Amino acid sequence: MIALRSEREIDLLRQANAIVAKAHQQAYEMIEPGVSTREIDKAVESVILDAGAKPAFKGYHGFPASTCISFDEEVVHGIPGKRKLRAGEIVSIDIGTCYKGYYGDAAVTHACGAVDALRMKLLDVTDLALSRAIRVACDGNYLNDIGIVVEQTSTEAGFDVVRDFVGHGIGLELHEDPQIMNYDNGSPGPRLKSGMVLAIEPMITAGRGAVRVLKDGWTVVTRDGKPSAHFEHSIVVRETGGEILSWSDSPRWGERSD
Ligand code: MG
Repeated sequence: MIALRSEREIDLLRQANAIVAKAHQQAYEMIEPGVSTREIDKAVESVILDAGAKPAFKGYHGFPASTCISFDEEVVHGIPGKRKLRAGEIVSIDIGTCYKGYYGDAAVTHACGAVDALRMKLLDVTDLALSRAIRVACDGNYLNDIGIVVEQTSTEAGFDVVRDFVGHGIGLELHEDPQIMNYDNGSPGPRLKSGMVLAIEPMITAGRGAVRVLKDGWTVVTRDGKPSAHFEHSIVVRETGGEILSWSDSPRWGERSD
């Protein structure tokens, strides 16, 4: 069952996601070589708590922090700690909140200092895949249309998608129906309807999309060690496409013209 949210609920989801966006802005301003992931996590948590919300990831199935921070070959679910950011790597920041019982969730991958052409292209392509996916998330399209455009965008660029982790519905729980694949799964799936709220999150890899989980039980890495990027927005399905709830002024966020 995919929930349909009222405008009142959508407004609460917008507030939860506005706090996510504010925390992302804070994290973005801290991205530079030498900063530890723990420092970023603490700052993110402060923004969330100061806004009267709860960090949705902290304690979720035992996750120990408010932010998932993942470098280069790490795809998602990296645990903040002593590790410092290094110039030349890409770093995915994923943040979730709960505000008045409603959830927000968004991720963005940043370049730390100057990065090589491959990593730059990976960021551009994953960001583009997300914006294309948001555009097809309109009333009357099918769920699988999202996977189709993400996979097409990735394949055209010579990249691969991660199949073991997926996007999701979001609302009164962090993860609700449906699961949103980042590939064409061969069947149209349910029809999208106005009022569905979805966290769409392409994970695209420079090499193969196969992944494994590290011994810490959380960090997902590519099996071939090639870099990976991850972008996510929470959106509401509308007549003309997805309306982004987790808007931020941070670069690489928002609607694109291409
Ligand atoms: Mg998510």
